[in-house]
Amino acid sequence: MLVFSAICPHPPILIPTIGKDNLKQIKDTAEAMKKLEQELYASKPDVILIISPHGEMIPDAFCINLNSSYKVNFEEFGDFTTKLEYRSSSLLALKIKERVENELPIILLSNDTLDHGCGVPLFYVTKHLKNIEVIPVSYSFLDTDKHFKFGQLIKKEIAKSEKRVAVIASGDMSHSLTKSSPAGFSPKGAEFDKEFISLLKRKDIPGIMKMNKNLIEEASECGYRSFSILFGILEEYKLDVEILSYEGTFGVGYLVANFKLV
Ligand SMILES: [Zn+2]
Repeated sequence: MLVFSAICPHPPILIPTIGKDNLKQIKDTAEAMKKLEQELYASKPDVILIISPHGEMIPDAFCINLNSSYKVNFEEFGDFTTKLEYRSSSLLALKIKERVENELPIILLSNDTLDHGCGVPLFYVTKHLKNIEVIPVSYSFLDTDKHFKFGQLIKKEIAKSEKRVAVIASGDMSHSLTKSSPAGFSPKGAEFDKEFISLLKRKDIPGIMKMNKNLIEEASECGYRSFSILFGILEEYKLDVEILSYEGTFGVGYLVANFKLV
């Protein structure tokens, strides 16, 4: 059953040993992640299905990373001390794969180390969840309607499962908010983030799925496809949307949102 769902950003500077003083500049995001951790803990999850833009990706197929366990470290960002490890949830991962494969291309991969798109949110939200199982999922470059459909298929297996499942859609908003942004400045960056959040506040998921493709492209986001899968999973549930934080301090939009099932 589905017990929790959220949107999270994944800047490595959220990790205190990496961000150091810079962490102060995104303290709303860090606080929101801590709040999310409490909400997740209260939901007593057995499994976290986490959708990341930065795992191994196949352009024309969705991927599930199925390995016996998963390690997280941030060595590529200069942190050689943080080390986390998670168990897999192989039965549920295989059931999702079987459910999806008749309708959409899906591939099972096996990597023992998770990317920072998984690692940063997991660092925050699993502080008190020692035995949590993880299912890492990568999106594709198939069209966004197929991402929504992928989510709808995942939802059916989550609903059937006896496990208490949390879903985290990891992704950053625009990377082109300011002149110092990683993707350079585009006025479409802020426009995308504003429109997305305003639609989300109104729970207008069909509106988000119909957002202008050029606007999405020019915003240089990495989260829209992760979020599209999550919206497919959430379809048919009644929910409240809680925007916990939004910051664009470093020219990239960081959104933390919790979807409360009602
Ligand atoms: Zn990203």
